[in-house]
Amino acid sequence: MEKKQYQLGDIVQMKKPHPCGTNEMEIIRMGMDIRIKCVGCKHSVLVPRTKFESKLKKVLRSNAENEEESS
Ligand SMILES: [Zn+2]
Repeated sequence: MEKKQYQLGDIVQMKKPHPCGTNEMEIIRMGMDIRIKCVGCKHSVLVPRTKFESKLKKVLRSNAENEEESS
């Protein structure tokens, strides 16, 4: 089993899309609970970390991988 890695600012995809049809959520707060914000409708929701991990499908864009591109 591979452990999913995520951090503040990451864009993640959940197993179920948001009711608005968007399946991209941004992690805007990390703690005991994790607050994620829908990229589509800007609705944010607070979920316990364990629930978040079970619903997380994959990390689409990691904040840590942001590199300066000047092209
Ligand atoms: Zn939404």
